[in-house]
Amino acid sequence: MEENLRDKLLEKNDFGWKNVNEDEKTKILDFAEGYLEFLNKAKIEREFVREARRVAENNGFKDINNFGKLKAGDKVYFVNRDKSMYLAVIGSKSIEEGLNIIGSHIDSPRLDLKPNPLYEDTGMAYFKTHYYGGIKKYQWTTIPLSIHGVFVKANGDRITVNIGEDENDPIFTITDLLPHLAQEQMDKKLKNGVEGEDLNLLIGSIQYDVQDNESVKLNIMNILNEKYGITERDFVSSELELVPAFKARSLGFDKGMCAAYGQDDKVCAYTSLMAMMELENPLKTAVCILSDKEEIGSMGNTGMESHMFDYFISEILNKLEVNRPNLLDKVFCYSKMLSSDVDAGFDPIYSSVSDKKNAGFLGKGITLNKYTGSRGKSGASDANAEYVAWIRNLLESNNIKYQVSELGKVDIGGGGTIAYILANKGVDVIDCGVPVLSMHAPYEVTSKYDVYSAYRTYKVFWNMA
Ligand code: MN
Ligand code: MN
Repeated sequence: MEENLRDKLLEKNDFGWKNVNEDEKTKILDFAEGYLEFLNKAKIEREFVREARRVAENNGFKDINNFGKLKAGDKVYFVNRDKSMYLAVIGSKSIEEGLNIIGSHIDSPRLDLKPNPLYEDTGMAYFKTHYYGGIKKYQWTTIPLSIHGVFVKANGDRITVNIGEDENDPIFTITDLLPHLAQEQMDKKLKNGVEGEDLNLLIGSIQYDVQDNESVKLNIMNILNEKYGITERDFVSSELELVPAFKARSLGFDKGMCAAYGQDDKVCAYTSLMAMMELENPLKTAVCILSDKEEIGSMGNTGMESHMFDYFISEILNKLEVNRPNLLDKVFCYSKMLSSDVDAGFDPIYSSVSDKKNAGFLGKGITLNKYTGSRGKSGASDANAEYVAWIRNLLESNNIKYQVSELGKVDIGGGGTIAYILANKGVDVIDCGVPVLSMHAPYEVTSKYDVYSAYRTYKVFWNMA
């Protein structure tokens, strides 16, 4: 009797793996294989867009610019400057009833090259960097780094760079002081132990010509000129990003977790992309956002704050031949969204920063964050109870395990996502993603159970009326 009352009234949020049968386990592990493979091909936003476009085209999606008219069932995409992308499957219901949107971001914390990066000091050549997003700087020293991105020459020629990933490529690294001589450094605050201006990438040490006193630099430029046809000035119109050269791998003897760079937020981007690829004839128009610049505040023309997204939806309205003044605003006001971004996973080693009753645990399924923000919910998009109820019902009726959490204890810190940007347009939005350990570190950890649970959530969301 007492047991029944417990089952009936009290919340018991158990670990997902406990109730997974062999068949489901195989599905979860197989899905993760595809995810890890994708991560190895898409470490930066431009590579993610390239891969996502390839996957989309293989699944019948076409550039919206190739459509004169749109009709129910059509699959379209729009690529914004090769760094962000929107996809949609046109629904059979009137678009005035709103969109079902899932939005993630495909940029991740990293080190960017400065516009004038190359210098030589004491027989060593270096690239100067400026970090991108919130990083713990000391984590980026003494690990193998690769260089990804583009040079665009003054005549518009674009040269793609990807060096350090292939086994036969060299890698690069940022050095740190040996412990023997680091007494002063070790006494500093952790955040000052390695300064931003010291994050200089070691790139070479062989002189071109013994007569010249900057000949290591010259030698590097000569190599780059032979390989890419560039001169030192071409760095000013480049976007070159340093990311860990680590491969995405399975983690643990049981292989239950993923270890990889950039899972914030490529885990939600990949799972939503995969869910959209399997979507056929939804009732409501389904929209997938893969945004850029989230890690630095979503500003700029590839960030979510840009009007490019409104433009994409307006183009859909135009090509459905239903557009009229203010229709875009109406569509947004009737839309629903999952802001699919990662959550801080509860780390037992650092448990003091989390409220255990309100934390996201690895292996307990997708995490909902009713609100984000910091210090009294400042800056938060706080989902309405009515909308949370709707999402809950969706997950519960489809037997998808979920958890509801906050990012850390009150006043400990905080964070934000793209949720508020869409909420400001009138969309009902809730944050909904995968818990991560070591977020923003060169190597982040997720549970394969949660990755699969995100994929399932996104699928049922888009299939909803
Ligand atoms: Mn994120
Ligand atoms: Mn982040």
